[in-house]
Amino acid sequence: MSVISTFGKGCKGALALNACKGSGAFCAVSCPFNINGAVWEEGQPCCYTEGPQKMYKNLVPFLDRHEKNLTMFLYGILSVMDKLQKAPWVRFSSFGSFPEQEELDSTQQGLLQQIAKGLQAQIAAGKVHFPVETLGKYHYYKSLGFLPRLSLATAMDPYDPWIKKACVVGSLKDPMTARKEAARAKAKELNDQGVIAVPCPAVGSKSKTMKCGKCTACGSSKVDMIVYPIHV
Ligand code: SF4
Ligand code: SF4
Repeated sequence: MSVISTFGKGCKGALALNACKGSGAFCAVSCPFNINGAVWEEGQPCCYTEGPQKMYKNLVPFLDRHEKNLTMFLYGILSVMDKLQKAPWVRFSSFGSFPEQEELDSTQQGLLQQIAKGLQAQIAAGKVHFPVETLGKYHYYKSLGFLPRLSLATAMDPYDPWIKKACVVGSLKDPMTARKEAARAKAKELNDQGVIAVPCPAVGSKSKTMKCGKCTACGSSKVDMIVYPIHV
């Protein structure tokens, strides 16, 4: 099974590992962007993965294979560990999410532990981005040795320094320049209050230097908060 892919925001050589599609089996229904979720309503901004998933016809079947054969997918990650260890940047869940601990059997939990162990040097060097959307996932994947980053769509204290976080600001009704300005302003507001916050430079940029891997903020244990301009 082919398990690795690339992603638009990634620098040359960056690799992505996706366990399911956006709004897929492992995305929490509490995520406000999940089109199968209890809080999502037609007409609201939906998951940023919807556009590419509609545009590239082979993408959803590729992601569905991982979702339906999670154990094989995890074995597949271990089989390409040498490639992941050499990559300048590894992004988990550029589409979808990884499961809650309760959704995993003991074999799958053991495989995830081995994956975290294999990537320890990259995680310590701040070259791995592992976004999660629930506090439960944050604590579970952290206990395995990953450095997850929690989306602030999960209700929680933005100032808690023990949890590495990301939030989204701005309105889709505004032009991207205004959304980027809103992200810069939010990051500055947080910086002024002692939170180490970084506005994501990749969203809305065509620059090859503004890419994940060139920017390593999401994988850094020193960055408390990433501020994304809203995008789809
Ligand atoms: S968890 Fe992420 S990928 Fe899944 S629905 Fe929410 S925003 Fe989309
Ligand atoms: S803040 Fe940096 S690492 Fe995070 S998504 Fe944006 S470009 Fe990538």
